[in-house]
Amino acid sequence: MPRYARVLIDRTGAREFDYAIPAELEGAVSVGTRVRVPMRQRVLTGTVLSLPETPAVPNPRPIAGVVGTRPLLDPVLLRLGEWIARYYCCPVEAALRAILPETVRKGQSGFKQQWFAAIRRLPEPPELDRLRKKAPRQAAALDHLAKAGAPVAAATLAEQCTVTLTTLRALQRAGWIVLTQENVDRDPWADEEFLPAAPHELNPEQAAALAATLAAVEHPANSKPLLLHGVTGSGKTEIYLQAIEHALGLGKTAIVLVPEIALTPQTVERFKSRFARTDAPVAVLHSHLSAGERHDEWHKARSGRARIVIGARSAVFAPLENLGLIVVDEEHEHSYKQEETPRYQARDVAVVRASMEPCAVLLGSATPALESWQNAIAGKYELLQLRVRADDRKLPRIRVIDLRMHTGRTKGPPLFSERLRSAIEDRLEKREQTILFLNRRGYATSLQCPKCGHVCMCPNCSISLTYHRAAARMNCHLCGHSERVATRCPACSDPAIRHSGAGTERIEDVVAKVFPKARVARMDADTMTRKEAYRETLGAFRTGRIDILIGTQMIAKGLHFPNVTLVGIVNADLSLHLPDFRAGERTFQLLTQVAGRAGRGEVEGDVYVQTYTPFSPSIQWARRQDYEEFAAQELGFRREWNYPPFTHLALLTLRSPSEARAAFCAETLARRLKEGMPDGVVLGEPAPAPLARVKGQYRFHLSLRGRTILRAVEHLRKVIEETPLPADVRLTVDVDPCQLM
Ligand code: ADP
Ligand code: ZN
Repeated sequence: MPRYARVLIDRTGAREFDYAIPAELEGAVSVGTRVRVPMRQRVLTGTVLSLPETPAVPNPRPIAGVVGTRPLLDPVLLRLGEWIARYYCCPVEAALRAILPETVRKGQSGFKQQWFAAIRRLPEPPELDRLRKKAPRQAAALDHLAKAGAPVAAATLAEQCTVTLTTLRALQRAGWIVLTQENVDRDPWADEEFLPAAPHELNPEQAAALAATLAAVEHPANSKPLLLHGVTGSGKTEIYLQAIEHALGLGKTAIVLVPEIALTPQTVERFKSRFARTDAPVAVLHSHLSAGERHDEWHKARSGRARIVIGARSAVFAPLENLGLIVVDEEHEHSYKQEETPRYQARDVAVVRASMEPCAVLLGSATPALESWQNAIAGKYELLQLRVRADDRKLPRIRVIDLRMHTGRTKGPPLFSERLRSAIEDRLEKREQTILFLNRRGYATSLQCPKCGHVCMCPNCSISLTYHRAAARMNCHLCGHSERVATRCPACSDPAIRHSGAGTERIEDVVAKVFPKARVARMDADTMTRKEAYRETLGAFRTGRIDILIGTQMIAKGLHFPNVTLVGIVNADLSLHLPDFRAGERTFQLLTQVAGRAGRGEVEGDVYVQTYTPFSPSIQWARRQDYEEFAAQELGFRREWNYPPFTHLALLTLRSPSEARAAFCAETLARRLKEGMPDGVVLGEPAPAPLARVKGQYRFHLSLRGRTILRAVEHLRKVIEETPLPADVRLTVDVDPCQLM
């Protein structure tokens, strides 16, 4: 019997303390158990990391209690937490915080309890008759229960027989019924019925990909991570579904990661309905759940009541036992990267977890991240490819429209070229649907004075304010600063202040003017503020009550509407000119994703891409839908410039309200890092970040590049520990960053 436990206490950074396991908790404490422990005058919670033979201090204090009945963390998840801490340069405690949802960790939320009533015996006939006259509701409740034969929720009885819990208690005292209290799951999908859906018969490419996946599920220890590259609509999801079905048949469980943005009712429905009749209910984890719902979904997975978990980034930590398969759909998506500590990349964590379990891991995408593609080329991943659409539908025709030819005819650049405009008109006549995509919300990206050139800037950040016309405000999309719209130039008082750079709100406005009869809806962060708005708008679009849907990247992913035959990309250049080595890759991915929304039904689809740089490689390869050529060319650049995937990057950001102190600290860190830097790691010059100021904080960057990031991170961690920073300077470390701004 272990006598001591090493406990990582919540919110103390990396501090571990030893405690004794008291006799009454013998057998209840193991690695991963959540415990309450005394710390000075208080009782805090923490996680048991190990069970040492001898304590680090003589006679440690005893553990006060255990949270939950079983360890909340199994050993694999604990090891995964340690790996995250080491790789992403963060405290173990921060990693564990990501692994266990707050509501579970604290053990506060608890299960929702409900009263259930069941019949014990009916009263004797004369008595029942008397009851029917005197207390008809009570009699009705008894009849209801007798007919049901099984426990009925008190809430249901209240609804159907208008009896209260007090009345039911009286019936219990009379000895006619039994009341019990039970845990019930809060089910966010309780109101929906999912009809079972049958699997498709696979085409030969799909069958080959499935066979490889099943081999990995059955023999995970000698299989590689699988990269499934297939154009949109090639039937990747069908492979996920059948692979999961097979894993369940082997008594195993599965995790499906999807980007938060794609966690639409449509996606959830597809999984729920395929598994509707099995004994393997699906648990769903995403960021819009209430604390109670999250608690229940988590415990559903933990207890084995759910054997499939589908969710966003954090679902990679789902507490399933006997894991057979982790699917990462749209594996190139940047939302898999967490942009706060611990800054982990869920796709990579999935691969690491799969090797620890061991289980199969399947990464799927139409446009794989170049990191994954390079891994496949180098033979670290096994490549599976689907080259045709599953339903034999053609890929949409993509036309590139050179906006340079259109300037000058109207005031300022036109939002719609004549060709796009007439294509929309054509669809309206044919009663087909159109999606217009622009990755920028608001009405205009800037307000500028034509006289003196003054641009309305955010007072806290180094970017211009976005004009929101309906709200009549200028907002900063970085810090949330908001002010009333300037009617005169704040610098020279000229009244002619002008807006430029259209956002989705402006597109909506123009569409309403050009196509007055069309039914139009807009989906972006401004219109989707209510929880239900997303579902409602998509529902209206699906049932044909909307002709034109305008939106940001919110509509780019995973949606499937057979009647959409036209997709217009209003400005393809927005993501192309960012100071980020992935700008080309992102543009290619975005264009391919958005184009994939067209022509998912009987009619072939058309995509119009408007751009000022029609000959940029990302746009040309996207037009031809040739991922492999694009990847080959882009990887050439990356290799030449020594960028990922040929090297790893760690990005340090120093923030301070004082520009001088942030710069000084960046330089000091750079100097100290140079000493003892492992071979093959290159340190960049400290420099102001591309977004030099955000929320009133000046920002400086410092980067490390090397093939062996683990050793670089180790060195980094030591230097950071030995280099105290002034109180008003904050440092963040981002390993394998997505955000370079
Ligand atoms: P992806 O995930 O690659 O975008 P999906 O799995 O969503 O592709 O498949 C696209 C469409 O084709 C869906 O409507 C799906 O039901 C259908 N489909 C998939 N596989 C087959 C198949 N083997 N035979 C017929 N239809 C299929
Ligand atoms: Zn701002």
